[in-house]
Amino acid sequence: MDFCPLCNGVETAAVECPNCQATLEDQGKITDYFDDYSAYMDIDMMKMFDGNRKSLEDHECLHYFYCTNCQHEETRTISDSADGFS
Ligand SMILES: [Zn+2]
Ligand SMILES: [Zn+2]
Repeated sequence: MDFCPLCNGVETAAVECPNCQATLEDQGKITDYFDDYSAYMDIDMMKMFDGNRKSLEDHECLHYFYCTNCQHEETRTISDSADGFS
């Protein structure tokens, strides 16, 4: 990961919930949730959680989003080269 605008607090995510159109809350990068397993899982396995190995090569950051309105949850890859989150 070279630079993630969300992890660095430069931007806030504005991801719309596909179910209820509320704004999903950024719960942080997904790898934070695997700290307990980091000794056993290498970064390749973490990236495969998203089913997208390419995200590793593209220096993307996986974030976990949660809808407080309908409990929808999803992961998004955050790329420093991406323009927006749509
Ligand atoms: Zn990030
Ligand atoms: Zn929702």
